[in-house]
Amino acid sequence: MANKIAIAIHGGAGTILRSNMTPELQEAYEAGLKSALDAGYKILESGGTSIDAVEAAVKSLEDFPMFNAGRGAVFNHEGKHEMDAAIMYGKNMMAGAVSNITGVKNPVSLAKTIMQQSEHVMLSGEGALSFAKEKGLAFEDEEYFFTEQRYIQWQEALKDDRIQLDHTEKKFGTVGAVALDMHGDLAAATSTGGMTNKKYSRIGDSPIIGAGTYANNNTCAISCTGHGEYFIRSVVAHDISCLMEYAGKSLREATDLVVMDKLVKTGGEGGLVAVDRHGNIAMLFNSEGMYRACRNASGLNEIKIYKD
Ligand code: ASP
Repeated sequence: MANKIAIAIHGGAGTILRSNMTPELQEAYEAGLKSALDAGYKILESGGTSIDAVEAAVKSLEDFPMFNAGRGAVFNHEGKHEMDAAIMYGKNMMAGAVSNITGVKNPVSLAKTIMQQSEHVMLSGEGALSFAKEKGLAFEDEEYFFTEQRYIQWQEALKDDRIQLDHTEKKFGTVGAVALDMHGDLAAATSTGGMTNKKYSRIGDSPIIGAGTYANNNTCAISCTGHGEYFIRSVVAHDISCLMEYAGKSLREATDLVVMDKLVKTGGEGGLVAVDRHGNIAMLFNSEGMYRACRNASGLNEIKIYKD
């Protein structure tokens, strides 16, 4: 079993073009991905669980200001950082999710605490914040979440009253991780700031179990990134699991069908990372690029941004 450990992470998909990137920026993104991969893989390697590994990887991505989650979360219409996150453990099908929270340093850890220490799956807004305070989760002030780049994006979006996906170019900077541990258990986690200038407490696919996040030991673990409305309507992550469970498709076949065919037909731009119970990894997207990385015990070790 031990040689089966595997982890894959993403920092969002979208119009990520070489022509818009400087060597310094690229290096910084790759360093952010590598730190997160290291954080998750270290846990798997030392016999830890997949649920701890995906939490550690996503926390690292949340702490990195260049991705749209945690510290780097985008501004909503009111100038706040409203975040969503989810986590799921394939071993026992337990899940935790949180939506529309502000000030929590690591939303993924709040999702995990909901999974482990409440009888609920999803909490939101003020109630979720009271729960987080009761459980002693770390909070940060407004200043911690302020990044110049996100502020400029928000000001531009405000000017034309536009709701946009993370960037002036279309980029979905959500973060996520999936893992298989040496006990044979799968887990998935996703965390996001959603869309720049979003209004009306809009919620995307990331915290919705079965849409943006899903894990089932019989099939696979999945974390998505992309235009959330489409991913919700297509119940993307659960659809892939069902194609494997009921139609006997492989991880590659199921993810290809959903991301490159079904989603494309509906107009849903984005991608995902996935791992199955045999340790096979899929990282695919129908957009220009996706910040992504993976590692396993057989020597696979990749950090990529663009299409091959
Ligand atoms: N899926 C996220 C959402 O719609 C956005 C992203 O992937 O960046 O909220």
